[in-house]
Amino acid sequence: MYDYLIVGAGLFGATFARLATDAGKKCLIIDKRNHIAGNCYTKHEMDIDVHVYGPHIFHCNEKKVWDFVNRFSEFNNFRNSPIAIHQDKAYSLPFNMYTFNQMWGVKTPEEAVAKIESQRLKLDREPLNLEEQALSLVGHDIYHTLIKDYTKKQWKKDPKELPASIIKRLPVRLTWDNNYFNDKYQGIPENGYTAMFENMLDGIEVRLGVDYFKNKKELNDLAGKVVFTGKVDEFFDYRFGELEYRTLEFQTEVHDAENVQGNAVVNYSDANVPWTRIIEHKHFQPGNKSKKSLVTREIPAEWKDDSVPYYPIGNTENSALYKKYEKLAKECESVVFGGRLAEYKYYDMHQIIISAMNKFESIN
Ligand code: FAD
Ligand code: UDP
Repeated sequence: MYDYLIVGAGLFGATFARLATDAGKKCLIIDKRNHIAGNCYTKHEMDIDVHVYGPHIFHCNEKKVWDFVNRFSEFNNFRNSPIAIHQDKAYSLPFNMYTFNQMWGVKTPEEAVAKIESQRLKLDREPLNLEEQALSLVGHDIYHTLIKDYTKKQWKKDPKELPASIIKRLPVRLTWDNNYFNDKYQGIPENGYTAMFENMLDGIEVRLGVDYFKNKKELNDLAGKVVFTGKVDEFFDYRFGELEYRTLEFQTEVHDAENVQGNAVVNYSDANVPWTRIIEHKHFQPGNKSKKSLVTREIPAEWKDDSVPYYPIGNTENSALYKKYEKLAKECESVVFGGRLAEYKYYDMHQIIISAMNKFESIN
């Protein structure tokens, strides 16, 4: 009946479904949640697009990715400029001249370089973990003020046990530029992500509230091939053991005020504050006129079976375990595995789209 059964109406599933449908294939998408858009899902409340599963800022350098998403939505001109609070003092992010000035009082790139050089970890090899990477990049003070405890809260692991790649996501600049991302194209869909996904899925059959594992046999029989975007270890019945994930608890409050924290994202670097960041959703929409405001505290937590696996934890043990599942996935010719959970990768949205484009091209 269908060329593809697509498990998951998140960004990987929706991209794959759109590409396949445009190429004349018939797709059925299912999701165990009762909404589309996966973790990008936004809900319109009090004239504000609420980022229900955490803040989502689209950014990329690839024109083909930007052109693709712009088929389904206009994007606003939002630029992410988070601040980080440490012991009641605010610092600019990503690490740039404002941060160095706030930390040390320096005013020129030369002074900042001298300060970093005086305290940075000097290695004659590549950094082996997040701590070494951070210390060699920005030195002792920034690591101990803005990185170490935030990272421990986020991952519940010692930064020495985490991969250097996690901290390479953050730019370090010797300019007065608070734009969190270096990318050429940035923004947020004008009417929220859910509206963008509705357009992506136009003309495609979607069934919500359907768990693949509860109806596997009947669902498999409906299609020639399966595209699976859920947890890869679950797909193979955890036969080599369970991969680790990090989950989040979101606590949202409505404020009878137009502006609560003056910024979309405020990070909290102190160990004794349980949340990593507070999001004020309306600031993702520059010019939002709502008389109220919604803020969400994001609290990292231990992942358990019934919680959402937001973040794969790419340390040595999990990477080795994933390699075993990856081998099985490659041998499974009737199934395409894609996305954050099925590829067990800390992908951003643009990387998901590239992965879906590549996977689609490789089999068509
Ligand atoms: P998902 O969005 O997780 O979609 C997978 C879908 O599959 C889910 O809807 C799930 O319900 C469904 N599913 C799973 N198992 C089954 C099953 N057995 N049966 C049926 N359905 C199933 N990226 C950025 O580019 N910029 C950002 O600012 C950004 N911020 C983020 C903030 C947070 C807090 C998080 C967690 C992620 C952020 N990301 C960001 C990353 C972005 O969310 C992901 O790259 C993207 O959403 C992954 O898409 P996906 O389709 O792989 O997964
Ligand atoms: N990070 C940090 N302090 C901050 C922000 C980020 O130490 O104020 C580190 C932390 O280890 C985090 C990583 O940088 O997991 C990546 O941060 P990013 O903002 O990209 O995380 P995400 O939005 O994916 O949660």
